[in-house]
Amino acid sequence: MNYVIIGNGVAGVTAAEAIRQIDARGQITMISDETHPPYCRPMISNLLEGAVDVSRLPIRGPDFYDRLSITPALGSRVTALDITAHTVATKDGGTHAYDQLLIAAGADPRPLDAQGLDLGGIFFMRNIAQVQEMITALADTRHALVLGGGLVGFKAAYSLLKRNIAVTMLIRSGYPLSMQVDETAGEMIQQVLCDHGLTVRTGISVTAFEGGGRVQTAHLSDGSQIPCDMAIIGKGVFPAHGFVPTDRIDTDAGILVDDHMATSAPGIYAAGDVAEHIDIARQKRWVNAIWPEAAAQGRVAGFNMAGQNLAYRGSLSRNVIRMFDTDVMTAGRVSPRDTDETCRFFSAADHRRQTYRKLVFEDQILVGFVMINQIEQGGVLASLIQSRTPVKISAHHLLDPGFNVSRLFDR
Ligand SMILES: Cc1cc2nc3c(=O)[nH]c(=O)nc-3n(C[C@H](O)[C@H](O)[C@H](O)COP(=O)(O)OP(=O)(O)OC[C@H]3O[C@@H](n4cnc5c(N)ncnc54)[C@H](O)[C@@H]3O)c2cc1C
Repeated sequence: MNYVIIGNGVAGVTAAEAIRQIDARGQITMISDETHPPYCRPMISNLLEGAVDVSRLPIRGPDFYDRLSITPALGSRVTALDITAHTVATKDGGTHAYDQLLIAAGADPRPLDAQGLDLGGIFFMRNIAQVQEMITALADTRHALVLGGGLVGFKAAYSLLKRNIAVTMLIRSGYPLSMQVDETAGEMIQQVLCDHGLTVRTGISVTAFEGGGRVQTAHLSDGSQIPCDMAIIGKGVFPAHGFVPTDRIDTDAGILVDDHMATSAPGIYAAGDVAEHIDIARQKRWVNAIWPEAAAQGRVAGFNMAGQNLAYRGSLSRNVIRMFDTDVMTAGRVSPRDTDETCRFFSAADHRRQTYRKLVFEDQILVGFVMINQIEQGGVLASLIQSRTPVKISAHHLLDPGFNVSRLFDR
């Protein structure tokens, strides 16, 4: 059997390991446009912050490819997929034939529509190489502009604040992390960041950058301008399936997959940020571009590609974030765009203690929560969402941080 995997991120890695667990002899080729060995992508923000060096990022040892007898094709970008011929073509003129193909190409940063994007000092933050360039540019950076308040924009701003750089964040919505948290939590998060020097401007965007070689000024949509010698674009991501023939493989936002992570084309699977499966809390198709789901999906895809029968149950968006001395945990549906009249909310905030807890239910099913500080019971709550177990005790009990979780299982 000839397996080809596009992408050496965590979905590609767990797939390769699953295949090798079942099939010791098959040929595995792993193609990636990055040249680094597999690494922990979320930690690139810790690299920017200066909290770790690059040696801490790999998720597998240097012998990963040899140990699993994988043929790596690194620094090679897939540009086309020929489903009839069973081949993928790369930008450098290569062709790889497959019997079973996994598309695990992750996501690309959403581009910004503004003039002057070719100036130095303007970055996306998706990979190690980009962060290494940012770190080099830090020596001449006094004021950074972060465009977007999603997870990447938030992490970029936090990392630069930790480097004592003045940061202005421009966000379209009223508060950071609006996809992950509700307004109360978002405002608490924003307050913590502002207490540490962040400037936030809402409902505004950049129309043009200006500078002599390197960016010096950003022109904003309200006609004003601000000085900046670094800009980081964190406007979200979209699944990286530009090379996929969409007349032959069903796509929506991501590549549509069934419970085996199989696409609509025989022998072709997709996993990770590029794939679209069912979201457990929303009970509909969704791309949950998060690390643990990419790892789980890759593993399921790999086992099925090697002939096993393993089903994926669906994904749950979730995140644990630590910023300065504040912990945030969120899962499922809590942001206003995700909740509707079928949802019931229960919340408790203590602004003096800096704690907040909100639970979202649909009937007796917990479908989301957000917690600021005292997040210890978050794992149990997340598993309640994942298992869709009806909660038969009062939601007010669950709001108490001292709640005895064993009561959930009382009969
Ligand atoms: C700054 C940052 C912070 C994050 N923080 C968190 C977090 O706190 N928690 C969390 O759960 N998730 C976080 N994420 C998201 C997480 O990193 C992703 O969900 C995860 O890495 C997805 O894994 P993947 O294997 O699907 O894709 P990726 O890790 O993106 O790997 C895909 C690989 O395929 C390569 N590739 C793409 N297209 C091609 C092509 N055409 N040809 C060849 N190679 C190609 C890419 O270059 C890449 O190497 C963060 C991401 C970023 C960028």
